[in-house]
Amino acid sequence: MQTTADIDVLVSEVGPRDGLQSIKAVMPTAAKKAWIAAEAAAGVREIEVCSFVPAKLLPQMADAAEVVAFARTIPGLTVLALVPNLRGAENAIAAGAHKIALPLSASETHSKANLRRTHDQVIEEVRQIAALVRSLPADRRPGFEGNVATAFGCTLEGPVPERKVVELACRLVEAGVDEVGLSDTTGYANPQQLRRLIRLVRAEIGAERLSGVHLHNTRGLGLANALAALEEGITTLDSSLGGLGGCPYAPGASGNIVTEDLVFMLDAMGLRTGIDLPRLLAVRRILAEALPGEALYGFTPDAGLPKGYEPGGWGIATAA
Ligand code: ZN
Repeated sequence: MQTTADIDVLVSEVGPRDGLQSIKAVMPTAAKKAWIAAEAAAGVREIEVCSFVPAKLLPQMADAAEVVAFARTIPGLTVLALVPNLRGAENAIAAGAHKIALPLSASETHSKANLRRTHDQVIEEVRQIAALVRSLPADRRPGFEGNVATAFGCTLEGPVPERKVVELACRLVEAGVDEVGLSDTTGYANPQQLRRLIRLVRAEIGAERLSGVHLHNTRGLGLANALAALEEGITTLDSSLGGLGGCPYAPGASGNIVTEDLVFMLDAMGLRTGIDLPRLLAVRRILAEALPGEALYGFTPDAGLPKGYEPGGWGIATAA
């Protein structure tokens, strides 16, 4: 998703999908709706609201269609859904998602464990989804993104060759996705590696086809990585409110980069997100109430906003 003229960075909230699928508790549908509505009201313009996977595999996502249908009623919000395969894509499109994203693990071991499919099988699925998308009337056609997951390392295979990530990004484009994203699924990425991989992938598929990265804060490098990505010209950053989610392979670690801290950094740097930070901070209450005992992360929420903070352009004001 490209940014529009009135914002510099698109903050794409993925907590209702990535965060919720990584914890045991099942958030009630009403709380999910309240969360999505409150973040949209705070100015968040894109939310990955769910994953279309069978409820027996992920009971946390059993209400995916209802959540998409609700989110679609919010004006100005881009509703994104994760789909693991053609069946998931059909369901997401029927529910009315504006955009669908399919993960392809650079590590084939991870792909087999996660989607039970080899690279060739996932690419074939992408081809079929692309054909389905093209067959729809223009006004009902969702955006289609392919995300190279475990792009910076894998908990099962360890290091992932960069040439493999570049090759898979090319194969995704050939198979018909509109855009490719790079996902640090495991929280292994460092800023140098991120810069290098963004350049390598863009050199092959074109800068316009790689506009977003998905980062985790497992080892505390989330914001350093986000800054490196911004300096490479990336304009969409995924994050999760309260860093919800954790990592099954790293006990005690947080999940995605924390939306509140990311927005504070961007705001302080004078980069426009369209998000009202005090209103965003207030949304945490919905999570705390709906998920009692679940860890919520973030430095800005704990420390509070700095003295003299003014929403939007605080950094600009202090530089004057
Ligand atoms: Zn993730």
